[in-house]
Amino acid sequence: MRFASLGSGSRGNGSIVASQTTAVLVDCGFSYKEALTRLRRLGLDPGELDGILVTHEHSDHVSGVEALSAKHGIPVYASRGTWIEVGVDKFEKPIYINDLFSIGDIDIRPITVPHDAREPLQFVFSCRGVRLGILSDLGSISQRVVEGYRDLDAISVEFNHDGIFENACRWRFWAFE
Ligand SMILES: [Zn+2]
Repeated sequence: MRFASLGSGSRGNGSIVASQTTAVLVDCGFSYKEALTRLRRLGLDPGELDGILVTHEHSDHVSGVEALSAKHGIPVYASRGTWIEVGVDKFEKPIYINDLFSIGDIDIRPITVPHDAREPLQFVFSCRGVRLGILSDLGSISQRVVEGYRDLDAISVEFNHDGIFENACRWRFWAFE
């Protein structure tokens, strides 16, 4: 499994998780044009994306999703709450907390996280026995997060919220102990 960040922070977030045969984009908080530039920098054509996962409705995670999906026919996956906040007509596939689903050969478990959004999710990916967790915009640490992100081979953590630093450090210490 491969992972790359298209960028993170309040100006736009996006990550790629890919196997040999499947590529998934997690969030797209960039303009369409900027997203293309960043994808191509990684050697990826948007037509190679098999799905876009949306963690929550904040614009730095979602602003480029509609254009990217519409122009390239890429299915979008989000929680029902995110789906409603962004506009029902824009998303196709609601996903549910803790319900494992697959895109190509990548299995994905959505995990609920504390954040000031309607139904925010983060994701743990597995493919051929390798497990990768992505955690962004984490408001604080919950038991569900601790349980959901056990036994990973790799993790990507992004946080820039006031007040989270101490918790995140504690959690990272726990994760790698
Ligand atoms: Zn957010």
